[in-house]
Amino acid sequence: MMDTQLILTGFLKRAERYFPNKQIISRTSPTITHRIAFKDYVKRTRRLADALKNIGMTRGTKVGTFGWNHHRHLEAYFAIPCSGAILHTINIRLAPEHIVYIINHAEDEILLIDEDLFPLVEPALAHLKSVKHIIIMGDSLGVPTSSFPNVHNYEQLLQEADENFEFPEDIDEYSQAGMCYTSATTGMPKGVVYTHRSIVLHSIALGLAESFALKENDVALPVVPMFHVNAWGLPFAAINYGANLVLPGPMFTPALLLDLIEQEKVTLAAGVPTIWLGVLAEQERQARDLSSLRQIISGGSASPKGLIQAFIEKLGVPYVNAYGMTETSPLVSMSHPTSEMDNYSADELLDLRVTQGLTSSLIETEVVNENGPVPNDGQTMGELRIRGPWIASEYYKDERTVDSFRDGWLYTGDIAVLTKEGYIKITDRTKDLIKSGGEWISSVDLENALMSHPAVFEAAVIAVPHPKWQERPLACVVLKENAHAGKDELIAHLENDFAKWSLPDDVVFLKEIPKTSVGKFLKAKLREDLKDYEVPL
Ligand code: AMP
Repeated sequence: MMDTQLILTGFLKRAERYFPNKQIISRTSPTITHRIAFKDYVKRTRRLADALKNIGMTRGTKVGTFGWNHHRHLEAYFAIPCSGAILHTINIRLAPEHIVYIINHAEDEILLIDEDLFPLVEPALAHLKSVKHIIIMGDSLGVPTSSFPNVHNYEQLLQEADENFEFPEDIDEYSQAGMCYTSATTGMPKGVVYTHRSIVLHSIALGLAESFALKENDVALPVVPMFHVNAWGLPFAAINYGANLVLPGPMFTPALLLDLIEQEKVTLAAGVPTIWLGVLAEQERQARDLSSLRQIISGGSASPKGLIQAFIEKLGVPYVNAYGMTETSPLVSMSHPTSEMDNYSADELLDLRVTQGLTSSLIETEVVNENGPVPNDGQTMGELRIRGPWIASEYYKDERTVDSFRDGWLYTGDIAVLTKEGYIKITDRTKDLIKSGGEWISSVDLENALMSHPAVFEAAVIAVPHPKWQERPLACVVLKENAHAGKDELIAHLENDFAKWSLPDDVVFLKEIPKTSVGKFLKAKLREDLKDYEVPL
């Protein structure tokens, strides 16, 4: 067989040739929406590649992006790797010292920064060691005043560049195409490098029926940021499959997202559960027409059962849980029921939908403990490990590689069980498990049950030190607006489903649960805030 290279340039060529009139709908402000046909998108992408070459980008150059989800960011997604350079998407919500660290560690030479985000990067500029050029992405033609010497305007650079720029054809499929840093529990973020091959294979997998089933007649809305694991690969896959792409820009409020879904007839939207919790509350306040939606994909952290149920039963929108990590490109598994479950009751199906699901084709997963792989008994816990062609094999220039990559597997730090059907069910992160008197308590199950109480908006359960049991569970709860529920009522709500010893000892009511830069519960912060909390003895 032929050994043609799996490189991203092939996606651009398909977009140009087969889907010239498909659209990128990019909302850069509440009043500005850009509608760009794929044929013009590819021309702009060629111009960007030429412009970047003109200021010194060559093969292997790292180019950082610091931006929301919009068409300019999408142009960078292809112009950079298709030139043989490396697209480094930077998480705009990281702490300033982490931003400085990752730009220096990756050795970015050029930065593309959104006009409105420039003030976030400006204080860091004096500490950057490798950056030579900054390009400001925005609708205006100016650049902000700055002491940094080479600041360019994106649109101006494009105007001066060649729309017939030819991408090189001899890129090796194993060469670096992109990188993304993921927050570590301790220390600085860790870098993951994607290759052309890994991105191409992952994108193709998003078209499989068992995963996103992305196809030409879809209108895809990645709510998940383009700075977080390539917006789960949707931008790459949509260009290849010819699906319209809706990019919401800086507008992530539930009301604006719902308006966008209604107006653009979005068929598939992807984001973290926190987004969908907000969207559900807003839809209940003011209903929009959601009939175009064929699938909501939720991932990044566990989805409460009540949320999945509300989407499916109240809104009539299929809601599918997907599991992955920055290290895994990210898609590993999805919780679609199979035809063998046709006779399951609604409750049994819901129990499956809450799980992280079945492993994708081409990817292998195992749940292992000290006795080896665990059985499909829904009970025996172990650590989830993964391998496959879009799973990282190391962290970029980082000694912490040895902690997570062993014997050809990525050890995820996620604790899971396998259901009788073989679905992965994450019960905790290794660091979030609660060990009470030698027994493990899963915080995720307790959180899910608490969030099924009608008065509860969000709940996180953490371990707090205990003189007798070493650790005990403490529930941290945010109530819905104008809702009331006390500790006794919430604990009583759990009593039917949990052994008495595993119930939280106490409930603290908070205004909000602290979140990570990508909207996940930040339990390390909760544990720190509540470390002196004394549970009632
Ligand atoms: P990140 O690399 O920031 O995307 O974080 C990856 C981690 O998010 C995983 O190791 C899991 O702990 C968690 N995660 C991702 N998807 C899910 C999911 N569907 N359910 C539960 N946890 C998830």
